[in-house]
Amino acid sequence: MARSLFWKITLPTAILVLAGMGALGLYLVQTMRAALVDSLEIRLTDEARLVAGFVSPEFSNQTGLDALAKSLGADMGARITLIARDGTVLGDTDENPATMANHGSRPEIAAALAGNTGRVVRYSTTLRKNMMYVAVPVTYENRIIGVARTSLPLTSVEGLVDHIIITIVVAIAIAAAFVILATAALSRNITRSVWQITAAAEQIAAGKLGRQIKISTSDEIGRLGKAFNRMSLSLQDSMSQISEEKNKLQTILFNLTDGVVMVDREGKILLVNPKTENLFGFRERDMIKRPLIEAVKDHEIDTILKRCLAGHSLVADQMETGFPKRFLRTIAVPLGEDKSGGALVLFQDLTELRALQTMRRDLVGNISHELRTPLAGIKVMVETLQSGAIGDRQAAQDFLKRINDEVDRLTQMVSEITELSRIETGQDNFDFQLTDIARIIEEVVSQLTPLAERGQIALHTVPGALPLVPLDKGRIRQALVNIIHNAIKFNRPGGTVTVATAVEDGAAVVNITDTGVGISVEDLPHVFERFYKADKARSKGGSGLGLAIANHTIQAHGGKIKVRSQEGKGSTFSFSLPLVQNLDRKSLPSKITWTNGFGQDIP
Ligand code: ADP
Repeated sequence: MARSLFWKITLPTAILVLAGMGALGLYLVQTMRAALVDSLEIRLTDEARLVAGFVSPEFSNQTGLDALAKSLGADMGARITLIARDGTVLGDTDENPATMANHGSRPEIAAALAGNTGRVVRYSTTLRKNMMYVAVPVTYENRIIGVARTSLPLTSVEGLVDHIIITIVVAIAIAAAFVILATAALSRNITRSVWQITAAAEQIAAGKLGRQIKISTSDEIGRLGKAFNRMSLSLQDSMSQISEEKNKLQTILFNLTDGVVMVDREGKILLVNPKTENLFGFRERDMIKRPLIEAVKDHEIDTILKRCLAGHSLVADQMETGFPKRFLRTIAVPLGEDKSGGALVLFQDLTELRALQTMRRDLVGNISHELRTPLAGIKVMVETLQSGAIGDRQAAQDFLKRINDEVDRLTQMVSEITELSRIETGQDNFDFQLTDIARIIEEVVSQLTPLAERGQIALHTVPGALPLVPLDKGRIRQALVNIIHNAIKFNRPGGTVTVATAVEDGAAVVNITDTGVGISVEDLPHVFERFYKADKARSKGGSGLGLAIANHTIQAHGGKIKVRSQEGKGSTFSFSLPLVQNLDRKSLPSKITWTNGFGQDIP
């Protein structure tokens, strides 16, 4: 408690006041006592002189002196002792002189016998108290004939001094109490403000930024309070700026498609963004303060970081790492003004870009491969015509028809490639209408029936009740043509193709089942890839694009396409199209317009 400001102010003030007033009291008591003793002495001297003058003529008649001492003493209110030159006590107010010892050796008596005024304060064994004695010579015709001594106990003086002491002590006590109370009130006033500031500072420390205190004075404490309030506000400002900056940084780090890791100068992890966690499959909290190699488990990346930290310079390289394998470009940048404050390691995931590049390369390869064969055929036929066959009208017509067929095939392929790439890249606009899909199936079936008949294949539909489905008529028709055409093409004479519909899991489902050659287990996973043709399908013509287009078309409708097949027995291709209430427009990969307006409100 003595450590508090209140006591630090109040206690020394109280001690100072008490000490000061005590010293003053002591001085006062001493002075008063001295003054009282002086006045007693003067009184006793005066009385002794009076007595000496009075008894001088009586001194020769020594017998009456005792009675005189007794009566004078009673009158004056003091003890009077009369002593002969030889020191014999001749009379005394209080005692019988006959019983009293010779007083000649008493200092005051000796002084008086020597012609002076003797003054002494002494303890009287006779009266058992402190007495003041004053002795003067009794003279007769200029001769000292004896001594007259007056004495009084000091008790009267001491009583008075005691009284004064009590008065002073009471006065000191009252004054000290006032001073202490006043100081206490003053210091409480000061400390209250200090407490307020302390409490506010503690609240700020506990996170309640911007705390303000009430200021009621304009003194130093008031100024301190104002400064505190300003500091509190600017602290709040700075903190909110810092947290805003931190939030911005976190948002950037969180949404960055590149991986970011910050390491200290020893290569230990300080910060990791979510993309890095995903790339390498670890959690930031498990790897903080751990070496980078432990988190990424790749020596090439570790080497890049070490070279950056050692050489204080940017180091970058590309590598394949992780499981599943990702193709990364790793860039290590030194941090700090002198480039020795650790490093920032960036991971750019180039896997998809690479896959895209590979795909594009493959596509170009595939297209040129697919175009080369028919073009070579055309060239051979043209050359044959040039080298004379043109003269043979029958052969020339046959060649020209085949050239025409090849050109048609090429044109078909080019338009299919174009369409596929437009659907794949999401550039194409889909025109959705609520449509009766059974009608489209009927149209396609009747369009392909002549083809089926030519191959002696029975093509029929199994009618099923279906609600209207949101779809792009032209494109679904094309997808159906592609699938049903395959079912006829890869069939055998006497075989069947059945198109059936149903509603399953909130979607319209179309199943196209054939009793054809079927697809081998090795080919099955690849039939939806572009340009993919099973070996035994090579002779049948076709670009290998039909199912790829159908697949993308169904996906663009929010549906799924599947195939089940048994080699030698036949295949079933199924695709689903979500009903209007289940269509998640946001997840559709293509641009959509609704021509009949219906469905606009669908989220
Ligand atoms: P294509 O133009 O060659 O028909 P598709 O993309 O339509 O190209 O089909 C790819 C390959 O899938 C075909 O070459 C064929 O090997 C196989 N395939 C497709 N449909 C069937 C089916 N109904 N029966 C057997 N094989 C099929």
